[in-house]
Amino acid sequence: MAGEKRSDVYDVIVIGGGPSGMMAAITAKREGASVLLLEKNSQCGKKLSLTGHGRCNITNSLIPENFREKYFENAKFLYSAFSAFAPEDTCRFFLGAGITTHEEENGRIFPDSQKAASVVSALIALLEKEGVDVVCDARVRKIAFSESDSLWEAKAENGSWKASHLILATGGKSFPHTGSEGDGYALAKAADLEVTDLTPGLAPIFLKEFSDKKDEEDSMAGLTLSYVGTSLWVEGKKIVSTRAELLFTHQGVSGPGAMRLSRKLPSVSDLYEQGAVVFKIDHLPEMKEDEVAEALLSAMTENPNRHMKRILCETFHFSEKVAERILKDEDPAANSVTKKERNRIVSDIKGMAFEVEKQTPMDIAYVTCGGIRLSQIDPKTMQAKKAPGLFVVGELLDIDGDSGGYNLQNAWATGYVAGLSAARGE
Ligand SMILES: Cc1cc2nc3c(=O)[nH]c(=O)nc-3n(C[C@H](O)[C@H](O)[C@H](O)COP(=O)(O)OP(=O)(O)OC[C@H]3O[C@@H](n4cnc5c(N)ncnc54)[C@H](O)[C@@H]3O)c2cc1C
Repeated sequence: MAGEKRSDVYDVIVIGGGPSGMMAAITAKREGASVLLLEKNSQCGKKLSLTGHGRCNITNSLIPENFREKYFENAKFLYSAFSAFAPEDTCRFFLGAGITTHEEENGRIFPDSQKAASVVSALIALLEKEGVDVVCDARVRKIAFSESDSLWEAKAENGSWKASHLILATGGKSFPHTGSEGDGYALAKAADLEVTDLTPGLAPIFLKEFSDKKDEEDSMAGLTLSYVGTSLWVEGKKIVSTRAELLFTHQGVSGPGAMRLSRKLPSVSDLYEQGAVVFKIDHLPEMKEDEVAEALLSAMTENPNRHMKRILCETFHFSEKVAERILKDEDPAANSVTKKERNRIVSDIKGMAFEVEKQTPMDIAYVTCGGIRLSQIDPKTMQAKKAPGLFVVGELLDIDGDSGGYNLQNAWATGYVAGLSAARGE
């Protein structure tokens, strides 16, 4: 059907064939509505096919116990949607589509196929099986509500279509080559919906000294710290912190210990130029500073002739690279280290500081933070309060989740609730 011009009137039109849009379309069709799905790419689910490093972390079994922590400030909004469509429902839904799943560490749920492509194919097959009309290569540029026939109209270059209910499922604006270029914000604004500030989330953090450093030998790139404390500081104030795995890259840091903090990177570039944005690593998050100081002093006293690198590696199980960094590439014997230098070592172990270079570009963030202001949306139906018949779902909403299947669970649950409500004419 791609590119075909139609003038049919549907019960429900869904704009965007990502996870939230496909879920909304399938649910509305199963509920008896006539449904059209418009997707700007030549196939649905392009971003979905990249998820979980190609394995697709579909959902997380720890929801709802931890959902307040995992969806940050706006978690409460999801309470209704997750009561209607919980992670078990996601697994059941996919089982019905022939996708069996299993759980890995921290509640992460993956398809047994270990392939995101199989999840995309299953959803596309379901759209067809249920009889959803799908038009690909249709980039919707305009939506409008016509008072005369009480219908919403979606206009693309290759056609215009009408329906009594319209579901906006166009995603955020990160990873724009997947089709999620932020179109939905303009469409929503045209329908008088407010959009909050948009910032990158789940992104790596660029560190100044890494971008300056060309010498591969010196670089910490490739180093993984399996469990450290990390924190982000702006103008001397701690903004956010976590404990998780951290990876060093050629540009800075990545992995959960960095990505989880990235949503709080300020957007004011002057702050970075002034060196006022700092990323800190606590290498021993389970020990207090005075405990570290005591352990270090006793190791040094017992082994006065031993060199400090060996002492740090043996006492605290640091890798050589970490010890070298703490010692600033010097390796004195313990008995030649002054009290002042010992204190400096302790404070570097508990708070190794790096200046952050800039706010990470949106293009490489895994999610967009911010979106359609939630106070304008009914959390039970996802319908816009000011624009009856218009629904907003998925990442386009002002909700972002932690890594671990939380963003897809938001897409499935809000898509489900909107599809059901739109089909029922609620
Ligand atoms: C590399 C990567 C890995 C990730 N891994 C995971 C993971 O393992 N688990 C997890 O929970 N989350 C993961 N995420 C986040 C997750 O993929 C998104 O939160 C999720 O895809 C959002 O779903 P959505 O349906 O709201 O939007 P999207 O998936 O962005 O889909 C929106 C769709 O709308 C279409 N569209 C946009 N504008 C228009 C228009 N004007 N007209 C027609 N169609 C339009 C787009 O082409 C796209 O197909 C990952 C993200 C990335 C980038």
